[in-house]
Amino acid sequence: LFVTIEGGDGAGKSTQAALLEEWLIEAGRTVVRTREPGGTDFGLEVREIVLHSRGHITARAEALLYAADRAQHIATKVRPALERGEVVIQDRYIDSSVAYQGAGRVLDGSEIRRLSEWATEDLRPDLTILIDLDEDLARQRLNNAEKRFDRLEAEKNDFHRRVRESFLSIASSEPDRFVVVDGALPAGEISTLIRARLAPLLFS
Ligand code: C5P
Repeated sequence: LFVTIEGGDGAGKSTQAALLEEWLIEAGRTVVRTREPGGTDFGLEVREIVLHSRGHITARAEALLYAADRAQHIATKVRPALERGEVVIQDRYIDSSVAYQGAGRVLDGSEIRRLSEWATEDLRPDLTILIDLDEDLARQRLNNAEKRFDRLEAEKNDFHRRVRESFLSIASSEPDRFVVVDGALPAGEISTLIRARLAPLLFS
């Protein structure tokens, strides 16, 4: 079972991934919790490059780096785990590229998706959790955690609005794959909503 978690920076994806992992382990499942960018040794190097080259590399170069990270990650870590019958919980996947490299950096979203489908030999998630959060709340949270809202000053407002809208529009075009939860809710409540949606997939 392949579950991906999507959302803007500061939405609470890693908290939910950890809670979900705990619950699945209690239910007796073997879980691989992973993330993009940076789910493999190669991916960690790519992550360093993309995060440190912001503002210096072109949108297309950035898109190709994310796709390269993804190709390696899916082929060497995710597919083998799925073939062993394990549950993979993955923080960010192709939808993040459509939202950030597509809507955010203004490239064609369907081309960005096709690039990643090629990179992953078309591996699709069984379920995608979108944690939707208002940008101001996300920014507050990240400031409280003393993390930077990680974008160039000039890009900030409009960039994150476009990313959020893109996530919501992907989710509404594929309602069977998505569960959309309100990131402003307490973490425990979000987790309950996610479990309710996942349970039929797990225990059927
Ligand atoms: O989710 P995580 O914090 O690991 O993401 C690191 C940074 O990379 C974030 O600022 C996120 O916005 C960005 N990112 C991106 N495009 C992706 C995935 C992540 O710009 N496809």
